[in-house]
Amino acid sequence: MEIVINSLDQKELNFKVVVHKKCGNKHIDVDKFATFNHRKHLCHYCNEYFYDSERGVGV
Ligand SMILES: [Zn+2]
Ligand SMILES: [Zn+2]
Repeated sequence: MEIVINSLDQKELNFKVVVHKKCGNKHIDVDKFATFNHRKHLCHYCNEYFYDSERGVGV
C-alpha cells in the first residue's frame, strides 16, 4: 500500500467525520492513519478502500 505523506498536511490535521457512503458506517482513523491527512480510507466494516471529498482524519 502506497502512502504519500505531505509535510504540509502533517502540520494541521483536518479532523472530520468520515462516512463510507456505501455502507453508511463511520470511519475512524487510528494509529498512524490518525497522524496525517488522507483522502483514501479503508473501511473497517467492508475492508474496502474509498475516497472522501477532501483529505482529513476520520474521528
Ligand atoms: Zn482513514
Ligand atoms: Zn464500508
